Amino acid sequence: DVTVYDFLFGDLTEEESGRVAVFDSATGSETTYGDLRARIDAFAGALAARGIKPGDVVALHVPNTAAFVIAFHGILRAGATATTINSLYTPPEIANQLRDSGAVRYVTVSLLLPGALAGCAEVDLPPENVVVLDGAEGHESLMDLLSEGAAPPDVSIDPATHLAVLPYSSGTTGKAKGVMLTHRNLVANVLQSMSAIPERSDDVVLAVLPFFHIYGMNVIMSITLKVRAKLVTMPKFDLDQFLRLIHEQRITFLYIAPPMAVALAKHPAVDDIDTSSVRAVLSGAAPLDEALGQAVKKRLGCGMQQGYGMTELSPVSHALPLDREDISIGSVGLAVANVEFKVVDTATGEEIEAVPGGRTAPGELWVRGPGVMVGYLGNEEATQETIDADGYLHTGDIVEVGPEGEVYVVDRLKELIKYKGYQVPPAELEAVLLTHPDIADAAVVPHPDDDAGEVPHAFVVLQQGASLTAEDVIAYVGEKVAPHKKVRVVDFIPAIPKSASGKILRKDLKGKTAADFS
Ligand code: ATP
Ligand code: MG
Repeated sequence: DVTVYDFLFGDLTEEESGRVAVFDSATGSETTYGDLRARIDAFAGALAARGIKPGDVVALHVPNTAAFVIAFHGILRAGATATTINSLYTPPEIANQLRDSGAVRYVTVSLLLPGALAGCAEVDLPPENVVVLDGAEGHESLMDLLSEGAAPPDVSIDPATHLAVLPYSSGTTGKAKGVMLTHRNLVANVLQSMSAIPERSDDVVLAVLPFFHIYGMNVIMSITLKVRAKLVTMPKFDLDQFLRLIHEQRITFLYIAPPMAVALAKHPAVDDIDTSSVRAVLSGAAPLDEALGQAVKKRLGCGMQQGYGMTELSPVSHALPLDREDISIGSVGLAVANVEFKVVDTATGEEIEAVPGGRTAPGELWVRGPGVMVGYLGNEEATQETIDADGYLHTGDIVEVGPEGEVYVVDRLKELIKYKGYQVPPAELEAVLLTHPDIADAAVVPHPDDDAGEVPHAFVVLQQGASLTAEDVIAYVGEKVAPHKKVRVVDFIPAIPKSASGKILRKDLKGKTAADFS
């Protein structure tokens, strides 16, 4: 057992110290591995000088930048626990997380400062405890902290039990939950994911998915630093800038979520840039259908794999190895090293047996392994509902298993549409809608119906200049799915609401019509 810091930087060689660790696209500056480690040490030293000690929680509310990487690892190096805050949060949401996590310090940037201060005020966190990395009147900055040159504190913590981070789940299905993860959870998961995600030291990795979310935090940031590749940080998704960075920085490894896959497969702007440097794309965070995966792979001419995970799993439990071209890209792949899983019939509670040479019936995915969280912060009841006595975490996701042991995510149990006696997965209908050339994006939610209980309701974004009617959409899907899965209500809207971590926010579409979005 080692701490995250020792795992990532403990064995840094002299040769590696001179390599570029982070290219910050917001400032255009490069940081070498040696400098990164020195700044992390100095940041940890400055926190200790301000009384931060093991067990304290420090809030980190910072977009993807080199400064995030320094502050994040500096907090962990000081033995404190980082609770990362979603950059889209409003002051009441910030206050909630501060209250819940008991954070004593706050690290942010000037752009986010007004909301941050409003959130801090609600919980009486004094403004002098708010560090503004890029500087602001009346606050300490990253430069202030680093220039003290304080030595990192000598903390002795047990990596197996000491909390490294307290990220919050995405809040896709309800209120975001604080997830307690130890140093061991994070380190184990980086090692496990690396068994299936083949990043190399010569890779240039684009980090656009937010570091505050577990996908950006432990998969992108930590794997990339561990293999001594180059991390290119991008603070916010913007398609033009995203494409420009791929082109200019000669990105080789691209981590995305399905909304970016939709853009990469369908947006005309992709044809104007050179994507030949990209050798692999990994998609995670939400369902990605085979056809969409194939479209991205073909257009970029690269390898393509999916990974599956959740905050509660640190996060990866499954990934499709790049070299398993025999397995569909529609699958999230095989269990990573040291993960056990089973699929359970939600009606009977019985384990679903493998089908030799075929696919199993759908059931809930249960996962066991070293990435499983300690629990939900301050919510023993929810923890016990989620992790059973045998240590299996019940994911709430419905999956099927194929002949190679590969897993196909059907959808979330909570989001299945109940049409008469049937369960209809909205993700399947979204995938069908996306195969239409005139449809740029789509989402499906249940719509209450007196007769059927619920019927599928599609929200559709048209490609520029395209014109389709609701009847066209209904007919198109109707030709491709069983009658009980037919879309029965259609609304055209300008954009599908998505979370910062790349998930369709179906809860924001339920009960709405086009008029709510005009
Ligand atoms: P909340 O638990 O707060 O409602 P959330 O479940 O979206 O939010 P995360 O921990 O960020 O929070 O996401 C985990 C979920 O993301 C999984 O349970 C699963 O539904 C979905 N997911 C992740 N990867 C994939 C994938 N490759 N394919 C399909 N779904 C995925
Ligand atoms: Mg969840």
